[in-house]
Amino acid sequence: MQVSGPCLRVLDGSGSKLSDRPGETISWHGLPADEAATRLAASFAEGLAETEVASRRAAHGENRITAKPGRGPLLRFALQFVQPLVLVLLLAGVVTAILGEWVDSGVIFGVTLINAVIGFVQEGHAENALAALARSLASEVTVLRGGCKQRLASTMLVPGDIVLLAAGDKVPADLRLFRAKDLQAIESALTGESAAVAKHEETLPEDTLLAERCNMAYAGTVMISGQGAGVVVATGDHTETGRISRLIAEAPDLTTPLTRKMTVFSNWLLIAIGLLAMLTFAVGMGRGESAFSMFMAAVALAVGAIPEGLPAAMTITLAIGVSRMAKRRAIIRKLPAVETLGSATVICSDKTGTLTENQMTVREIYAGGVRTTVSGSGYAPNGKIGEGQQIDGALRECLLAGVLCNDAELCKNNRHWEVVGDPTEGALLVVARKAGLDERTLQKLFPRIDEIPFDSARQYMATRHEIQGVHFAYFKGALERLLPRSVSMLDCEGLTIPLRNDEIELAASSMAAEGLRVLAVARLVIGAACSLDAASAGTGLQFIGLLGMVDPPRPKAITAVKACHRAGIVVKMITGDHAGTALSIARQVGIAKAGERALTGRELAALDDEALRGVLRTVNVYARVEPEQKLRLVRALQANGEIVAMTGDGVNDAPALKQANIGIAMGLAGTEVAKDAADMVLTDDDFAAIEAAVEEGRGVYDNLVKFITWTLPTNFGEGLVIMAAIVAGATLPITPLQILWINMTTAVFLGLMLAFEPIEHAVMHRPPRPPETPILDAALVWRIVLVSVLLLAGSFGLFLRELAQGHSLAEARTVAVNVFVVVETMYLFNCRSLTRSARRVGLFSNRALWYGVLIMVLLQISLTYLPLMNRLFATAAIGWLEWLEILSVGLLAYLVVGIDKQVRGHR
Ligand code: ATP
Repeated sequence: MQVSGPCLRVLDGSGSKLSDRPGETISWHGLPADEAATRLAASFAEGLAETEVASRRAAHGENRITAKPGRGPLLRFALQFVQPLVLVLLLAGVVTAILGEWVDSGVIFGVTLINAVIGFVQEGHAENALAALARSLASEVTVLRGGCKQRLASTMLVPGDIVLLAAGDKVPADLRLFRAKDLQAIESALTGESAAVAKHEETLPEDTLLAERCNMAYAGTVMISGQGAGVVVATGDHTETGRISRLIAEAPDLTTPLTRKMTVFSNWLLIAIGLLAMLTFAVGMGRGESAFSMFMAAVALAVGAIPEGLPAAMTITLAIGVSRMAKRRAIIRKLPAVETLGSATVICSDKTGTLTENQMTVREIYAGGVRTTVSGSGYAPNGKIGEGQQIDGALRECLLAGVLCNDAELCKNNRHWEVVGDPTEGALLVVARKAGLDERTLQKLFPRIDEIPFDSARQYMATRHEIQGVHFAYFKGALERLLPRSVSMLDCEGLTIPLRNDEIELAASSMAAEGLRVLAVARLVIGAACSLDAASAGTGLQFIGLLGMVDPPRPKAITAVKACHRAGIVVKMITGDHAGTALSIARQVGIAKAGERALTGRELAALDDEALRGVLRTVNVYARVEPEQKLRLVRALQANGEIVAMTGDGVNDAPALKQANIGIAMGLAGTEVAKDAADMVLTDDDFAAIEAAVEEGRGVYDNLVKFITWTLPTNFGEGLVIMAAIVAGATLPITPLQILWINMTTAVFLGLMLAFEPIEHAVMHRPPRPPETPILDAALVWRIVLVSVLLLAGSFGLFLRELAQGHSLAEARTVAVNVFVVVETMYLFNCRSLTRSARRVGLFSNRALWYGVLIMVLLQISLTYLPLMNRLFATAAIGWLEWLEILSVGLLAYLVVGIDKQVRGHR
């Protein structure tokens, strides 16, 4: 198989432009890397120049795969009719048409059409909003351009770009690798093979199969370990993935456990209503009523009791919640998370970057047995090391190791210093500059010959350099990993002396106790022929020193942790960092109290599952935890009955993120693998966003419950009125058409407005909701009974009174219809809060609701007084006295429900 696409565009004679040579295909894997770069006019050392990038982008376009259209609009519209609730309406419409009731039939069809249009538009909005959010999570890549490392959106890549890969990256385009160190990829998206494939840079035979092209990295696959670099050979639709086009734009799933539960519930409701309607029909016939009038009564019952607005309201409420969360920097990837968030009982958070700023500054250095403080803050290299200390011996070696064993880059952008890469490494470059050591010069002078990339599980990294004919491996990482392998240390003058283990450990723990993040550095003299991997496996390190850096806690995290505690949520810190540092930060943000201890990964490994479950009830800080242990922690917490939200950023965090009830990935520091596994992504990595998302999640759930609490009693009330009329042998107080009118207008202009209810302050003052809590609990059943009886008494009562006073049937029915609408409007205000009285919610805190009420008033006036509406809906004008009675019934209902709420303190 051969690669084609933009690879067809190869260099023309000038060496700077790309041109098309149709028909030519290039097997990039069959070319030596240098040759591939030459053909693409790319430079491994410098990357492309910005001017060249612009012209290539003009020629090749953005690096994205053209999305295949999903379900067409016609099909999506048609599917709106394929819902049990709508099918019943359609059936009623057909039968009424056969019976010759053209107006009724026309209106029923009209209503189903309107319903479908509303559903179609809303679904489209919700899908677009979710898809837009997913797109806003576009992956970023590290690229070498103009000799400088940059982070850019992967859509900005062009052929010839030099891409740097690290563990956890999603490959952004097809690359010919020219450097690969321990690089392993999962290519299942392309080849279906789920085992990891090791990558290298050697040239392969031209006829190598796609799955075996180990010197290529293909778009859409993910790197799970190591480091590497490659030159982009194909972008967008021309990549292998683009060509086979597996990435079909899928419409996001708009369901959650609650909406699924409601669908099941409404299907049951439909069956029950169907049976009741048949019963009504039979009872009426038994009494000798006409089949026609009984059929119309059965239809009235069915359309009245069916909550038509429910599915749309659910989708809209969820969509509004998701976009509110996005504004608060939490992007939902999987919709059910919105709901689960409200039930979370434990949040397990990383430390670095989530609870802290991830703005590292080296404050102290311990080298040659001497502790030195460093002044200055942030990434600006302004500050002094000690009191104008001589930079030599162990101190110099310590700074040199920090600079050489480093992948970050320090750049000045508009007088503002920035770090591209890991902030911990950035801090090491800054401190070296404060000592007058320029990383670019040093890195050029002593280039890296080999490396062991950093890995959270390994907790260190190493690089190999040749300095004045001697091969050194520099190590930097956790003290626990480097000290046990050290056999000697450097003194002030840089001479080798015996290791002073206790003194080093004391220095490290005193730095950690001050909340400093401690990094150890060491070196190893290796024979020129010995490989770095083999050397690093053994001992014999010369310990050089410790660097202690501050990473201040995020001020917002402190208030967010407090808010979680108030909301009955336990916050736990799970970090790869030193126990002392972790505890100090945990105390500052309020996760641990004075005297509380931290459990380390090693202690954790020694516990059996039962003991771990016990420990988890009391210990909130877990330090030196390996990513794999996170999965065990999540499982143990779940075994304790907790609903767990867990953060993560690395490749190895993915299983824990999947296992957690809510997996949360970091948007900035997180790898693509972690983001793919997560339910939610934090755009700025801030812990406060998790708390905000929980608050929103609780708010969304509340609003859904409010809608249900509003709609079910009103639907039930309508059904009850019809049944009562039939049982009593009275004329129907409302016709099927009038019921449809009531249901459609009130669901859209009243019920839906509850989705815009602001979150109640109290949501974060109550404990998490147990996920198994039924929606139809005793309180709701009681409310259904109460409101439907009020509706029955009000509408039937006034209807009979109108007739008794000699008014026409049309007038009496108009009164009954208005009773329904007015009671529903007033009851809506009762439903604005599940716990507080309508007055305390703040009358004008939801503007949408008032607009809805205003529209409803205008609609009812037109229904009552417009001749066309009178003709269509068999209504008639009524007098002000009737209005007074109707409003009194509404007010009475409002007060009764209000008092009931106060007495029962719920819903
Ligand atoms: P958190 O888990 O809260 O994000 P963390 O960043 O300390 O904390 P890891 O990234 O897993 O967690 O790092 C674990 C340890 O590895 C650190 O405490 C540090 O000692 C060491 N370490 C971190 N970054 C580097 C690096 N770039 N090079 C070498 N060692 C590192």
